[in-house]
Amino acid sequence: MPFVRVALDVPLDRLFDYAVEAVTAADVGRRVVVPFGSRSLVGIVMAVADAPEDAGVAIKPVDAILEDMPALPADTLALLRFCADYYQHPIGQVVHTALPSRFRDIAPFHVAEALRYVATDAAALAAAIPARAVMQHRLVAMLAVPRSEAELRRVSGTAWKTVQAWMADGSVAVTRHEAAPIGDIVGLTLNADQTAAVQSIGSGKGFGAHLLQGITGSGKTEVYLQAIAAVLAAGKQALVLVPEINLTPQLEGRFRSRFPMVELAALHSSVADGERAAAWVKAARGEARIVLGTRLAVFTPMPALGLVIVDEEHDASYKQQDGLRYSARDMAVARAKRADVPVVLGSATPSLESWHNAAQGRYRHDYLRLRATPGAKPPAWRLIGTRHAPMTDGLHPMTVGAIAERLARCEQTLIFLNRRGYAPVMHCSECGWLAACTRCSARLTVHLREGRLRCHHCGWEERLPPRCPGCGNADVKPVGQGTQRLEDVLAARFPHACVMRIDRDSTRRKGSFEAALKAIHDGRVDILVGTQMLAKGHDFPKLTLVVVTGADSGLYSADYRAAERLFAQLAQVAGRAGRAEHPGEVLVQTDFPEHPLYQALLADDYDAFAQRELDERQLAGFPPILHQAVLRAEAAKLEEAVTFLRKASSLAPNVEGVTVWDPVPATMTRLANRERAQVLVQSHSRPRLQSMLAAWMLAMRQERAGKIRWSLDVDPLEL
Ligand code: ADP
Ligand code: ZN
Ligand code: ZN
Repeated sequence: MPFVRVALDVPLDRLFDYAVEAVTAADVGRRVVVPFGSRSLVGIVMAVADAPEDAGVAIKPVDAILEDMPALPADTLALLRFCADYYQHPIGQVVHTALPSRFRDIAPFHVAEALRYVATDAAALAAAIPARAVMQHRLVAMLAVPRSEAELRRVSGTAWKTVQAWMADGSVAVTRHEAAPIGDIVGLTLNADQTAAVQSIGSGKGFGAHLLQGITGSGKTEVYLQAIAAVLAAGKQALVLVPEINLTPQLEGRFRSRFPMVELAALHSSVADGERAAAWVKAARGEARIVLGTRLAVFTPMPALGLVIVDEEHDASYKQQDGLRYSARDMAVARAKRADVPVVLGSATPSLESWHNAAQGRYRHDYLRLRATPGAKPPAWRLIGTRHAPMTDGLHPMTVGAIAERLARCEQTLIFLNRRGYAPVMHCSECGWLAACTRCSARLTVHLREGRLRCHHCGWEERLPPRCPGCGNADVKPVGQGTQRLEDVLAARFPHACVMRIDRDSTRRKGSFEAALKAIHDGRVDILVGTQMLAKGHDFPKLTLVVVTGADSGLYSADYRAAERLFAQLAQVAGRAGRAEHPGEVLVQTDFPEHPLYQALLADDYDAFAQRELDERQLAGFPPILHQAVLRAEAAKLEEAVTFLRKASSLAPNVEGVTVWDPVPATMTRLANRERAQVLVQSHSRPRLQSMLAAWMLAMRQERAGKIRWSLDVDPLEL
């Protein structure tokens, strides 16, 4: 009797053998239902074997092999294995993370295949129809190319019946999607930089990584669209990844309207489970020729993959922060390499990892240097020194003047402050008391309107104390400025203006963010106060002024990536100012106008900034110059976590060129009543780090962790 090796969604790094009556190689990658303990689980067949791996144990039979989902093809299975090895994560959990959640359900799932109909000889058929049968002639004209049933039914109430009759006599044949034409695709006339980029990407032949660097509005999306057109014309599929927040209906619409004849599968979290699974199936069958999705879409099987695109490749949301801690950007590059197709990483502010790869010649560096729309200019930056300035309520007189100017011209202003709430600190000036979260190593944020103190890390809430809990002083005060306070300040300052705040608090209700965006678009808002929620992906034609405040904390942070993140954030928010006919201006209120980060923004010179950051990381020994992994542990007491990590470190194999640091408390030690610590591992050699981690994790999995929760993060974004 043959056996199947099955990947199950359990935290054990192994496959499970089951007996099966009959099985072929075609069943590899299929869903199976198997008994596991007292439960029935859905698994994926990873391999077929003649004998079980473990001869001594009793092997149970599979309950069923399901044929509803297209079997995961060999290249997808290989990518998932690579992912499991790279991130040291159990293969069963990797496989199940990569599947649409609907497929974890035992109930079968069916997606009708998209059939197309085409005339076997359109001219002969037309000749056989009487001239006055206008509707039939129109049908024949359509059937010159393959059409879907829905398209044909639209012609008239009896059209489908006619087509069926023609099918019966052989005049019309059924075809599969491969034959479907992509139609005439009309793109914009590219400028020189765009042309060079599209040409260098080519039409889907051979691996090559391309870093496409250009500011917002420089025409990156147009480059993607034309590179995709070439790939589609060659009969292939394109995979496009975008950060969650960027996958706006506008972007999806832009893709759909450029390729109206081509089926597009949208894969992101706001697509319902069933729809998402159906889109996935269509991509796996090759029917959907474009997959447009977020992080998880990187694992979608695509039999004719010809091109991979990662938009805003620097975005942190490509890295999953729990469970399988993978980077979709890095998996996209690995996938393109295995499939031997080009991959395009697009950004105004590339990650230092990608920028470094380009500088080393591993990626081709393509620049888009101008704004693509004729006549459009990049925004003008102005730095406003605030150190000895006469500030009122956190606003410089020049800022106030610039806002007033926009109001007079009926233009919009966006004030960017990446700190929600009323104030970050509640303070007693008598005894020095500060409102702190008892569950986290963090302060509580003042939410004045709700009369609450809130922890932005664990969600803890309490009433705003009327007097100091320390000394009874009634004069406890909110210190510092959050978006709520800024909103109040602006409303008082400009009583006739419509001020709107957009942050996670103001957009909690479903649909409220969309409603706010519409109000801005319709020009019903004069002044916007917002966090990074507003920084990405939205175009506001009447917005001509962006004011940045409270950004300095990113300049001197302990986190070595803080500056990189700040640059990206400010470049992105600046991109909101001035599209088309209205030139934009960006004012930055700062105590450090001479700081090189601001100077590089002013000069629109990301490369100068990136080179300087890279030099610093070289000196300090940080990624991307070397490679890191971090073993994290959390427990009720810090001592338990540290003891566990000390034990873990003693299991770490001694590999030359790999450094294992001593356990230390995490930057934010206490989170939601758990104490956290970590061990950092680093090496200049990725292969050495990889082999060390593999041996280490093998040893770790034999250990009993008890109540300690631990995880390994390879290429961590945060320490
Ligand atoms: P990005 O993705 O870099 O922000 P887009 O591709 O969205 O840039 O282009 C910005 C704007 O410029 C869009 O309105 C787009 O239609 C327009 N555009 C892009 N390329 C061209 C071009 N070659 N000629 C004219 N307009 C262009
Ligand atoms: Zn006090
Ligand atoms: Zn907390």
